[in-house]
Amino acid sequence: MANITNEFMGHDMLAPFTAGWQSDMEPLVIEKSEGSYVYDINGKKYLDTLSGLWCTTLGGSETRLVEAANKQLNTLPFYHSFWNRTTKPSLDLAKELLNMFTANKMAKVFFTNSGSEANDTQVKLVWYYNNALGRPQKKKIIARAKAYHGSTYISAGLSGLPPMHQKFDLPPPFVLHTECPHYWAYHLPGETEEEFSTRLANNLESLILKEGPETVAAFIAEPVLGAAGVILPPATYFDKVQAILRKHDILFIADEVVCGFGRLGTMFGSDKYNIKPDLVSVAKALSSGYMPIAAVLVSQKISSVILSESNKIGAFCHGFTYSGHPVACAVALEALKIYKERNITEVVNKISQKFQEGLKAFADSPIIGEIRGTGLALSTEFVDNKSPNDPFPYEWAVGTYFGTQCAKYGMLVSSTGDHVNMAPSFTLSLEELDELIRIYGKALKDTEKRVEELKSQ
Ligand code: PMP
Repeated sequence: MANITNEFMGHDMLAPFTAGWQSDMEPLVIEKSEGSYVYDINGKKYLDTLSGLWCTTLGGSETRLVEAANKQLNTLPFYHSFWNRTTKPSLDLAKELLNMFTANKMAKVFFTNSGSEANDTQVKLVWYYNNALGRPQKKKIIARAKAYHGSTYISAGLSGLPPMHQKFDLPPPFVLHTECPHYWAYHLPGETEEEFSTRLANNLESLILKEGPETVAAFIAEPVLGAAGVILPPATYFDKVQAILRKHDILFIADEVVCGFGRLGTMFGSDKYNIKPDLVSVAKALSSGYMPIAAVLVSQKISSVILSESNKIGAFCHGFTYSGHPVACAVALEALKIYKERNITEVVNKISQKFQEGLKAFADSPIIGEIRGTGLALSTEFVDNKSPNDPFPYEWAVGTYFGTQCAKYGMLVSSTGDHVNMAPSFTLSLEELDELIRIYGKALKDTEKRVEELKSQ
């Protein structure tokens, strides 16, 4: 147990993704941010290597975003987008998003407040579409093991993380899960990446055929699985998956909530992996995390059916009070402007090589199985004997210990189980990157020592 030192000990929040025992401990209370750093209420400074929750791409003190919010708050703090009433920032942002996403031509944008709402919206759009086309049985959605798609009923069901299903009566019956494409963890002896992709694509097709293609509506995937631990698609994976989806008339929903807006060194993950989605979810970096906003990009094929059906039944009855909130849209619009002006993918590519190489140099540590990543996203997997089949005992909490040591040295990482994710702000300077690598090395040494001690007990 941590020392009882702050006044928020035993606080009043039922906190997200937090266990009861954690809530009973002293919370880390963050008070202020500056560039790539955050400060707690005691004034301690931390290099925030997760940019909040993968979102503050422009760092914690981008005054242009603050000014955009202020200006909008002073002009029109709120108006909605129902019944064809709307605001200029939402119209401008929709136009800009359609211009920016070029992997497949998108025709319309639907705004939500979170990635979860965006993915719930995706499923409702797909159902509406198939109902309108007179095929009401085509409703099942295939997601992947280990995926993270959100926390609302449908999006948590799509997520492939068992702790998100337990006690919630999830996943719902219309969600099916196929395998996670993690080559290191799941390939067979002697199997190449391409062969692994072929096997997974064949298994996906077997699942579709078993269920009946006439019952399967869509497949949802993050181009790179983020929360699961930056799992990159193996060679040829998305080509093979897309060919099967096309064959069975199944829509592709790209969940770009983490990958979108430069994180992988391309503007979208779909650009990097040649994905041609029918529907796209974006959030997080859309406003650099400064305002809660997300969006669904809809291709013509789907939007035209939805709009003509809504003419028949009166309206497209789906939406949120804050869909297209003008302040959130104004901030997002400014963020997108900055991405363009600063050529954000170049910024990421300039620093990501050193980020990836500097950290992957630790891969021969005896307690690390794999360090993987691309762009400014990276994950470290702690295992015994360098084998995906030898996890450390749960109660050793190796990843958590590493995270605690990082925090002690002034750096925040995300450690869920024994994988540790990093996705820093794009403001990270080379000096800050040196500091990040140095602290990582120190915390790793401590963790190696701790594992040795635990083994000798
Ligand atoms: N999709 C992905 C890929 C995500 O990483 C997340 C959030 N971590 C979500 C959806 C859900 O977004 P939100 O938390 O804004 O609901």
